[in-house]
Amino acid sequence: MDYGYNELIQAGYDFIPSRIAEHLHPDFFTGTNPIYAGLESDKSLMTNGESPTNSAHFCCRYLEGTMRFIIPPTIVLPEPPHLLYPIDIVHELGHVLESIFNFDFYFDPISDYAKVHIYDESFAEAFCYYVCYDYNDFPVSKELDREINSFFNGLWNW
Ligand SMILES: [Zn+2]
Repeated sequence: MDYGYNELIQAGYDFIPSRIAEHLHPDFFTGTNPIYAGLESDKSLMTNGESPTNSAHFCCRYLEGTMRFIIPPTIVLPEPPHLLYPIDIVHELGHVLESIFNFDFYFDPISDYAKVHIYDESFAEAFCYYVCYDYNDFPVSKELDREINSFFNGLWNW
């Protein structure tokens, strides 16, 4: 299906239980290099070591030691929407959710990506697993499944 950004973003939100989705209000920056908007510098690197200028990522910065935003929670989507999937939006919204909890939680990895970047990516990847059961790359233990589900189910009454 050929999505525009609006349809892509909406399709991502559609995966997420509304009681959680209603807390997620990032800005979206789409379709061009985030350096032009001052969201990144040409020296920034993402957790996977790639430049943030051409791949989807979450961007958010606080004034050091405070909760005052320099850059408010922003999902940056530089690539054309046909190169992305709704689950990519879910992943980035997972980072938005994580930022609401001050990045204090992490889960054992459910994917190779989370395994390599456990402190940066395990929460967002666990969130994808929560909303889409066949998302994981390898078997998830019953214990981890229970941990992930009880954490995110707990947010239904948040
Ligand atoms: Zn991520």
